[in-house]
Amino acid sequence: MSNRTFTMIKPDAFAAGHIGSILKHIEAAGFKIIAMKAIRLSAEKAGEFYAVHKERPFYGELVEFMSSGPIVAAILEKENAVADFRTLIGATNPAQAADGTIRKLYAKSVGENAVHGSDSDENAAIEGSFFFSAFERI
Ligand code: ATP
Ligand code: MG
Repeated sequence: MSNRTFTMIKPDAFAAGHIGSILKHIEAAGFKIIAMKAIRLSAEKAGEFYAVHKERPFYGELVEFMSSGPIVAAILEKENAVADFRTLIGATNPAQAADGTIRKLYAKSVGENAVHGSDSDENAAIEGSFFFSAFERI
């Protein structure tokens, strides 16, 4: 079990001014910020990040959305980080997300769902390295 996960505050939540509120939830849940930056992904970079979904019908829409405006990318640390962060953000579709979760509170739709959270320790490491060099981490 790793103690790190990777997150993005997606363009919908960034544009709506929810960065501060979302970071507050994350810190209140006991996660420490190990690395963080605001950045805008090109369509090419967004496509590369979500390449695992290349064959899915929503891939084009997802790439377009994720490159539509700036995001916040961050590496977070906590015991059992990956699983606990997925619990904190809630289901992919905010209509199915539990009360009090970040997606229930801030997501607009299954596509524009406010935050990303890694789904495994392996992907957390890959995704963190996609955005941050060793020099940029605490
Ligand atoms: P994420 O990887 O962003 O944390 P997730 O792991 O909950 O989300 P995935 O199945 O990995 O969900 O889907 C990746 C992203 O693709 C979703 O967060 C959402 O933005 C988008 N997506 C997933 N399903 C759909 C769909 N049916 N229609 C439109 N967009 C979708
Ligand atoms: Mg996912």
